[in-house]
Amino acid sequence: MECIFCKIVSGEVNSKKVYEDDDIIAFNDLNPQAPTHILIIPKKHIESILDLKEGDMELVGKIHIVAKKIAEKNGITDFRIVTNCGKKAGQSIFHLHFHFLSGRRFIWPPG
Ligand code: 5GP
Ligand code: ZN
Repeated sequence: MECIFCKIVSGEVNSKKVYEDDDIIAFNDLNPQAPTHILIIPKKHIESILDLKEGDMELVGKIHIVAKKIAEKNGITDFRIVTNCGKKAGQSIFHLHFHFLSGRRFIWPPG
């Protein structure tokens, strides 16, 4: 198994987990781009949004409910969710993940 995020799911690679259920985990990003930078990922290996199936609809919805739970638990009302899809868009880990970023101002449009 080559995927670093699958190794985080299995516990083979350590991470600072902030949320876990049967389908999803969330953990602090190793190289934070904001005071709060959490990655929310499905436990099952999906490479990117382009690999989602109709049957993953509930899983992706649930990931957003997890984002809301993380926000509420930490008293966060202003945050950004980012998913990079493809190398040219900035994806470096090919296991679907949603960046939860907060604690500073973000520019729009993004760079
Ligand atoms: P991407 O560039 O694919 O959108 O985001 C990948 C993210 O994973 C990056 O923000 C990077 O810092 C983070 N990352 C890469 N390897 C590890 C790791 O081993 N542990 C953790 N916690 N984050 C990682
Ligand atoms: Zn994986």
